[in-house]
Amino acid sequence: MSSLRQIENFINGRFVSPQSAAYLTSDNPSSGEAHLRVPRSASADVAAAVQAARDAFPAWSALRAEERADWLTRIADQIDARAEEFAEAESLDQGKPVKLARQMDIARASTNFRFFAGVVRQELSVAAPLDARTFSYVRREPIGVAGLISPWNLPLYLLTWKLAPALAYGNTAVAKPSELTSLTASLLAEVFRDVGLPPGVANLVFGLGAEAGQALVEHPDVPVISFTGGTVTGRKLAITAAPLLKKLSLELGGKNPTLVFDDANLDRDLAAIVRSSFLNQGEICLCGSRLYVHAKIYESFVERFVREVESLKVGDPRDPETFMGPLVSREHLVKVKSYIAWAKDAGLQVRTGGEAPVNLPEALRGGFFLRPTVITSATKRLDQTNKIQQEEVFGPVVTISAFETFDEVIAQANSTRYGLSASVWTESLSRAHEAAARLHAGTVWVNGWMLRDLRLPFGGVKDSGLGREGQLDSLHLFTEPKTVTIRYGDAT
Ligand code: NAD
Repeated sequence: MSSLRQIENFINGRFVSPQSAAYLTSDNPSSGEAHLRVPRSASADVAAAVQAARDAFPAWSALRAEERADWLTRIADQIDARAEEFAEAESLDQGKPVKLARQMDIARASTNFRFFAGVVRQELSVAAPLDARTFSYVRREPIGVAGLISPWNLPLYLLTWKLAPALAYGNTAVAKPSELTSLTASLLAEVFRDVGLPPGVANLVFGLGAEAGQALVEHPDVPVISFTGGTVTGRKLAITAAPLLKKLSLELGGKNPTLVFDDANLDRDLAAIVRSSFLNQGEICLCGSRLYVHAKIYESFVERFVREVESLKVGDPRDPETFMGPLVSREHLVKVKSYIAWAKDAGLQVRTGGEAPVNLPEALRGGFFLRPTVITSATKRLDQTNKIQQEEVFGPVVTISAFETFDEVIAQANSTRYGLSASVWTESLSRAHEAAARLHAGTVWVNGWMLRDLRLPFGGVKDSGLGREGQLDSLHLFTEPKTVTIRYGDAT
C-alpha cells in the first residue's frame, strides 16, 4: 500500500473516493518522484457531481447577489488565512517558486473571489422606455451547472478565475482541474467545507482530460463550459460541445511576440522583458517567446539580455532567491528539450541554457530542471516558417530575431496561427498605438507585461481562443439575458 498523500473528489459538500477506486499518481517536479494520488474519475463521478450541482442550483441562484458575494468573501478570507500553505502546495505540485506562488497565484486566487463579490454587489440591469406606456428591462439569469476545466500552469489562479464568476452570477459548478496539479484545488475544497458553503454549489472532480474532462463536456445537464488549456484540446471540446449547443469559452495557447524598437528604454525595461520571457519557467500562456529586436540595437540587446538571463537563479523552489523552479513534468521537459534539439539540428545558436543547471543539490537531481534558453541565428534573422517560430513551446525558451522596418516586424509578429498577447517596447507614442492597432492579439502591452485589470476583457484571437473572460465578459458567459417588455395602462 502506498504512503503517498491522497486527495479525493469533492461532491455535494463531501470528500468522496472515485467510484472505480482508481487513482493516478502525480510527481513532485523538483525531485521527479511521485508525491500525490489523484482520483482517476470517470463519467459516473462526473454524473454524481452534476446531479449535486443541479440540486443546489435553485436555492443558490435564488439568493440575493449580496448573499452570494458574502460567501465569496468568506472563501477569499480563508484562502488568505491559509495563504502560506496554499503557496507551498502550489510550488510542490507545479514546480514554481514558493515566493512566486505566494505573490502571484495565491494572492490572485483570493482576489478573484473578492473581485467578483464586489462586481455582483454593484450590478445594475438595463431598463428602457419604448413609449409612454411601454418599457423593457433585462434580467440576467444564471444558466445552471457550469463545467470548468483548467490547466496546470497557474492551477489555483485560473480555476478561481472561472469558479468565482460562475458562482457569483448564480450558477453552481463542477470543476475539473489538471491531473498534473490537483493539490491546491483540493485545499480549496477544504475551504468550501470549512466556510460551510451549501453542499453541491461547488464540486471538484479530479482525473484525466480524456475521461473526467470529456464526460463533463458531454454531460447534457452542463449547458456552459469554460475551458483554459491547449489549442488542440480546445478544438476537441468545440467539436463535442457544438452539436449540444453549449455556451463555450476557450482560452487557448499562445506564441506571443515581443517587439523591441531601437528607442526602447532598456535601462528601465530590460529586466521586465526577461521576466516576460521566463516567469513561471516560461509556463504562462502570456510569456513572450519570439523576441523581435531592431537591427540597430540587436547585437547589444542580445548581449545584455543573455547576461541578465544568466543571472537568474534556477533551482530549489523553496529558496526565496530562486527565479525558476523545475518544469511541470518529465513529459513536458522532454517536449521542451525537443525544440532545443530541433534548433541545434537546424543550425541555430543556443546562446545560453539548453541544459539543466549544474550543481543542483542531490535531492533535486531527478527534478525536471532546465536553464532559461535563448536561441538566435547566425544571420540574426530566423525563418518565420520554422517550427520554433510557429509552435507553442510553453517553457523557458525564447528566440531573438532582428528586424529593420515597422511593417516587417508587424508582419512577422502576426505570422503565427496564435493571437493571445504581444508586448511592445518603445518610447514613441504613435508607434505604440500603431503597433497596438495592427497586432493580432487579445491583449497588447506597451512598456509592460502581465499588468492585469480584471474588469477588462481577457482572451485571444485566431487559434488562441474563442470568447473573453473579465467583468462583463464573464457576466455574458455565465448568464443569459432575458428581455421583458411591459405595456401598462388602458389601451387607447
Ligand atoms: P491541456 O489542453 O492539455 O489540458 C487542459 C485541461 O483540459 C486539463 O484539465 C485536462 O485534463 C483537460 N482536458 C484534456 N483533454 C480533454 C478533453 N478531451 N475534454 C475535456 N477536458 C480535457 O492543457 P495544459 O497542458 O494543461 O495547459 C497548457 C496549455 O494551456 C498551453 O497551451 C497554454 O498556452 C494554455 N493556457 C492558456 C491560457 C489562456 O488564458 N489563454 C492560460 C493558461 C494556459
